Amino acid sequence: MIELVQGEGGVVALDREYVKYVEQLCKKNGILLIVDEVQTGIGRTGTLLCCEQYGIHPNVITLAKGLGAGLPIGAILMDELTENVFQPGQHGSTFGGNPVVCAGAIEVMNQVCDKKFLSDVRSKARYLNEQIISLRGVIEVSGLGLMIGISLEEGLNAQNIAKRCVENGLLILTAKKNLRILPPLNITLDEIDRGMSILRHALMSKK
Ligand SMILES: *Cc1c(COP(=O)(O)O)cnc(C)c1O
Repeated sequence: MIELVQGEGGVVALDREYVKYVEQLCKKNGILLIVDEVQTGIGRTGTLLCCEQYGIHPNVITLAKGLGAGLPIGAILMDELTENVFQPGQHGSTFGGNPVVCAGAIEVMNQVCDKKFLSDVRSKARYLNEQIISLRGVIEVSGLGLMIGISLEEGLNAQNIAKRCVENGLLILTAKKNLRILPPLNITLDEIDRGMSILRHALMSKK
């Protein structure tokens, strides 16, 4: 079971060759490959599923988070090998299958599966990356699409910077010693600029 871009782990995108090798190794030894796309799925990395970019075909894919756009839902995708493991009704949860939440998820799918929507995510990600790498105090930008990690220069504390950003109206996360940003996929360029300005000030302020 792998995450193609580790989220909490520091926003680390796995090496493509490594992932291909893991897939081959699993196939050769009859091991199921499960890709956790709870965070990377549903357009977050610029394609509907992140595994499309790695050119792999996992046996099982897990989805949640973005699928609900704030409403609580999770899903699993299964291939030919695993499709009959669960029969309807075998996997339940108290609020599973909620019709309101499912209606929301269907609308999310309708919007995110649009080619233009996904190409916009990719161009916004490129724009954001260029902006971030030009900020003083930033050493490296990692991640994929709109799942972004920022390594900071020695002496800059990610927690403090994130706190300053929040105080000024920009919600930002941390992962290990890095800053982590996961903007909404429908963010506008104007909103990106406003966010960058808050981040720039937070990086400059020597509190
Ligand atoms: C949030 C998250 C989970 C947990 O998903 P739930 O739907 O809350 O169970 C699992 N994997 C990854 C990568 C996540 O980011």
